[in-house]
Amino acid sequence: MTKDWELRECDREFFDRELRSFVPEKIFDAHAHLYETWHWGRGEDGFQGPRVATLAEFRRLMEWITPGSHTTALFFGVGFSDDRLRPSNEFVAAEVSLDPENRGQMVISPRMDPEEVRQETKRLGFTGLKVYHTFVQGEVSWHADISRFLTEEHVRVAHQEGWTITLHMVKDRAMADPANQERIVEYCTRYPDMKLILAHAARGFNPYHTVEGIHALKGLRNVWCDTSAVTEAGAFEAIIDTLGHDRLLWGSDFPVSHGRGRCIAIGDQFFWLGEDSLDWDGVAAQASIQPVLTGLESLRVLKLAARHLRLSDSQVEDIFYTNARRMLGMDG
Ligand SMILES: [Zn+2]
Repeated sequence: MTKDWELRECDREFFDRELRSFVPEKIFDAHAHLYETWHWGRGEDGFQGPRVATLAEFRRLMEWITPGSHTTALFFGVGFSDDRLRPSNEFVAAEVSLDPENRGQMVISPRMDPEEVRQETKRLGFTGLKVYHTFVQGEVSWHADISRFLTEEHVRVAHQEGWTITLHMVKDRAMADPANQERIVEYCTRYPDMKLILAHAARGFNPYHTVEGIHALKGLRNVWCDTSAVTEAGAFEAIIDTLGHDRLLWGSDFPVSHGRGRCIAIGDQFFWLGEDSLDWDGVAAQASIQPVLTGLESLRVLKLAARHLRLSDSQVEDIFYTNARRMLGMDG
C-alpha cells in the first residue's frame, strides 16, 4: 500500500494556485468525523491518519486543505454499528465540549428507543442525530429505503427538540430515486422543526442524480445539503440553482478529505479513484499524474460552481460559514 496520508508539495501548489483567493478565513465545517481508530470497526492494519482524531488533531490537520483559516465544525463519530456507537458518541461528546463554537450530532441506530435517543442526545450535549445505512439488517443496506435507517419516530424526536439530522441516502440513483424523494418530502413536511442535512450534495457523487432529482425538494425550508467529499461541480450547481445558495453547507468529511484522489462519475454510477486504485506511473502518456488531497479537489469544484453561478464573495462566505451557523441557531 502506498503512503497517502501526507501533505505533498503538489498539494501546497494546488492550494496556492487554485484556492488561496477563494477559501475564506472563517469556516464552519458541517460534516466532520472525530474518532479513535477502533470505532471504525476495521482493525488497525493499513489504517492511515491519526490513531486518535481529537478536536486538536482535526484543527492541526485542516491546515493541509484550508491553510490559514480558522475552522469550527459540526462533528459526529464513526461508530456505525450497534456495538460501537456508544463509545464513539462518548468520545465525540467529550471533544465537542472543549469549545462552545462547535456542535455535535449523535450516531443512532434505528433500533434505539426514541426516548433513549432523546435522553442520550441531551446527556451528551449533542444538538442533532447522524444516521447511516450500515445499521440496516436483513437486506443489502446500499439499497435500503431511508425509513429503514432513519425511522419516523426518531424524526419526530428531532422535530420536537429542533435538532438537525445528517442523512447519507443510498439506493443506486440516490436523489433521482422517487422513493428517496417521497420519503424526504414526507419527513420534512410532517416534521417542519427537524432540520435535515443531505450529506454529499444529496449523495450527488454522480452529479446527474442530484441534477435530475433535487427539484423534488424545492420549497422545503428545513432541508440543506453539505458538500462533503464531492469532487464534481454539477450537484453543487443544481442545489444552488434549485434550492438557493443558502441551502448549501461546506463540509470536509474529515478524514475522507485527507485521502488522495477523487470520486468520479461514470455512466450512471460513481467510483473512488485513489492512490491505490491503479499504477499511476505511466497511466497517462502526456504527463506524470499527481493526485491531490480529496478535500482540495472538493474545494476546487465548489469554486467552479460558485463561478458558474456568479456567486458574490458574501454568498461564498455563507456556504463556508453563515448558512450552517444560522441553521444551528448560532447566528442571528
Ligand atoms: Zn462522513
